[in-house]
Amino acid sequence: MQWETVIGLEVHLQLATQSKIFSGSPIAFGAEPNTQASAVDLAMPGMLPVLNEQAVRMAVMFGLGIDAEIGMRSVFDRKNYFYPDLPKGYQISQFSDPIVGRGEFEIQLEDGRTRQIGITRAHLEEDAGKSLHEDFHGMTGIDLNRAGTPLLEIVTEPDIRSAAEAVAYLKALHSLVTYLGISDGNMAEGSMRCDINISLRPPGQAAYGTRAEIKNVNSFRFVERAIRHEVERQSDILEDGGKVVQETRLYDAERDETRPMRSKEVANDYRYFPEPDLLPVVIDDAYVAAIRETLPELPTAKRHRFMEQYGLSAYDANVLADSRELADYYEAAVGACGDAKIAANWVQVELLGQLNKAELGIGASPVSAADLGGLIARILDNSISGKIAKQVFEAMWNGEGSADEIIKARGLQQVSDSGELEAMVDEVIAGNSAQVEQYLAADEGKRKKLLGFFVGQVMKVSRGQANPQMVNQLLAKKLH
Ligand code: ADP
Ligand code: MG
Repeated sequence: MQWETVIGLEVHLQLATQSKIFSGSPIAFGAEPNTQASAVDLAMPGMLPVLNEQAVRMAVMFGLGIDAEIGMRSVFDRKNYFYPDLPKGYQISQFSDPIVGRGEFEIQLEDGRTRQIGITRAHLEEDAGKSLHEDFHGMTGIDLNRAGTPLLEIVTEPDIRSAAEAVAYLKALHSLVTYLGISDGNMAEGSMRCDINISLRPPGQAAYGTRAEIKNVNSFRFVERAIRHEVERQSDILEDGGKVVQETRLYDAERDETRPMRSKEVANDYRYFPEPDLLPVVIDDAYVAAIRETLPELPTAKRHRFMEQYGLSAYDANVLADSRELADYYEAAVGACGDAKIAANWVQVELLGQLNKAELGIGASPVSAADLGGLIARILDNSISGKIAKQVFEAMWNGEGSADEIIKARGLQQVSDSGELEAMVDEVIAGNSAQVEQYLAADEGKRKKLLGFFVGQVMKVSRGQANPQMVNQLLAKKLH
């Protein structure tokens, strides 16, 4: 049977605050173990948490970014469980009254279709520390640098229907939070970690099937693979007439498989209760309105504007609006050349192609938007052909100067002088008399093809610099 896949995602997003959510410790990545853990983070007796306002502000920014209900009065709760990297014996989180309520998020699929994904809630919480199992001669070390790092947990409705949609959602989320500047979104460093809830059901059935939860998947590629494996595993069970058990599973990237971690039946009872050391967070309309004022144009709005203003396809608009830097670059290049479509092509194919190869971000591009626009302008005014432009681009990439400087220095100017071109055409016709005879004997259809041969020869003689349109016209005329 063809089962329908049902997925809900829980993303733990690390907020880009200066300091931890309940202490003044810094949260820089990669510091020596326990050098960024204060008495509060170590849970020394008598230490009290103080809420970081920047974390609240960032959570509200996110809520506004997905048009969610903002929790004007939110509450911190204790989530109790025992683990060596959690010295308090509980995690401060939000349970009954989260700071961000129900919202809606538009995602864009590869094929240009869009889908609305319901956001159930997003709440603030602190991260735990980390157990280190390496290099301790059989013992485990505890690093509390990460303890108390502010997280926003973002929970979706079970609205996602495939691995591709899950990845599209995560990419869109990544794009949103980096636009907002509330997270660096760095998955490799754990700034964005994803739990995948997944179940199958027969098509047409309203009730959801039993789900498994795959914990802590930390790259787009692994999300895709983990889902594919889990769908296969569950459908095998169902095909055999078995039942999926509700459990937590782990994705092992090295072995490329999911395996059980713990079953939900014996899962912890977290005994949530309100955190007595923190007051409820009460914010007012003026606070929210002031934050709204600071929001930039967000990816969805930009994507739609790119489609309307520049006539881009949904796919192109999605790629170019993915980050603020790229979108700004693109618009600057359009400004410099005046052609939105050709600029979209050059940015996506040549520029992003080279940047990806060199593993560089758009911010580190050796070719500026103005320079790329300048190059495109030379194609548009027929100074150079598209083919020559690729050569010029490469030279620009290698730091040889602007398009105009390179064209001049290398003598790449397109030949549009009819006298010069005529001489080349004559030369080619004289040197290929057999083909000329063939051409004259051929019918209309065949002639077209043969003409291509002559054009190619002239381009060769001109080292790619002849104006192809003029060559075509001249050849047609001369051969007749
Ligand atoms: P928990 O309390 O175990 O975290 P929640 O009800 O909060 O469970 O749901 C967690 C996530 O699981 C949400 O993203 C939700 O959309 C998703 N989810 C719930 N039921 C299913 C299901 N049957 N199949 C797939 N995802 C589900
Ligand atoms: Mg959960």
